[in-house]
Amino acid sequence: MRNVSQIINGKRKIIKKPELLAPAGNLEKLKVAIMYGADAVFVGGKEFSLRSQASNFTLDDIKEAVIFAKQYHAHIHVTCNIILHQDNLEGIKEYLQCLDDIGVTAIIVADPYIMKIAKEMNLHLEVHVSTQLSTLNLKAIEFYKEMGMDRVVLGREVTYEDLKTIMHYAPVDVEYFIHGAMCIHYSGRCMLSNYLSRRDANRGGCSQSCRWYYDLYENDMLVNREDDMPFSMSSKDMSLIDHIGELIELGVDSFKIEGRMKSLHYIATVVSTYRKLIDAYCDDPDYFQPDESYRDELLKAANRALCHGFFYDHPTKDEQLFFLRDEHPTQEFVMRILDYDTQNHLAKIEQRNYFKVGDKIEIFSPHHPNLFFTVKKLYNEDREIIEVANHPMEVLYVQIDEEVLPNDMGRKVIR
Ligand code: SF4
Repeated sequence: MRNVSQIINGKRKIIKKPELLAPAGNLEKLKVAIMYGADAVFVGGKEFSLRSQASNFTLDDIKEAVIFAKQYHAHIHVTCNIILHQDNLEGIKEYLQCLDDIGVTAIIVADPYIMKIAKEMNLHLEVHVSTQLSTLNLKAIEFYKEMGMDRVVLGREVTYEDLKTIMHYAPVDVEYFIHGAMCIHYSGRCMLSNYLSRRDANRGGCSQSCRWYYDLYENDMLVNREDDMPFSMSSKDMSLIDHIGELIELGVDSFKIEGRMKSLHYIATVVSTYRKLIDAYCDDPDYFQPDESYRDELLKAANRALCHGFFYDHPTKDEQLFFLRDEHPTQEFVMRILDYDTQNHLAKIEQRNYFKVGDKIEIFSPHHPNLFFTVKKLYNEDREIIEVANHPMEVLYVQIDEEVLPNDMGRKVIR
């Protein structure tokens, strides 16, 4: 059992903070995840990784990621969780050696052959068992310990009750999903996409077939609802924002956020929200007051309804989107701050989505509380007055009375 807290100067403090592990689909997202508070980031390599649709990292990208992460005492985990076919075997040893030489902290693996050779090669990096293997019980974790694995990423299907038992006895580090999309099937066990679109979910090609719209028949009779909303098997997204304290008290080693395909805005919002919540809880666990502001912040980036996943038990129909539209609008990411002139109250920005004079913007940051302003004055790079910002990535200047910081982000308030 992990000892998570200690009395310091008469006050209980959490001494075993969980790692906050974020996803990144490219270097820009990786750097933002770290700047916004991730302790570690997982990325897919070009080789031997799932999520072939995510913009995966070359070895040079991984090297740059490791160098950047070190400046923040953060860690890089690389997914090597492909299920190997016979023709995938070539080059695997050389690839693992390169990752080790670059200095990645861990590889995430699913195929027993990669587990075996990673240990035989006496690499410095840790070997983590991928969630693709659906590890849901202590005996399986003990088995992976015997195999020399350093960490097990649990399946999303582990309930809180089972997690309590697991954390009491787990002989290796345990990583648990706290936020992200859910599969309608057990993770890693779904063939829907393979069958309907010939895209292999277990090789990173999932076409999200569960989220398509279907006409539902019962004995030749169409049973779509009266309002003609088609049927979908899509699950709500999972968020354990209301249970972070309980998970910290169990001593879970790593909290995982899912979503290497997600946007920069999503990653910054989700990572900074959990960072602030974890830090606030750990600082004063006995007097921590949960409040709605954390959930409200997450909802600004969520494009599906949220649920507790398997935390309490198997999800019911209330955790699914059977007859519901699964997308809802989020606040739009419109700018990233590059610099701020404190004398003229002028922020140099990089435009990300359309906005105009008169729009209300919310600035969020890992370093200060959110602040709001209305766009009154906007200039192009030549300092000429303009009314609209409609060229993505264009450098512009905008008047913001309160001081903002480089890498703060602005979202348009639309609800
Ligand atoms: S089709 Fe749906 S349930 Fe199946 S792997 Fe893809 S996202 Fe998961």
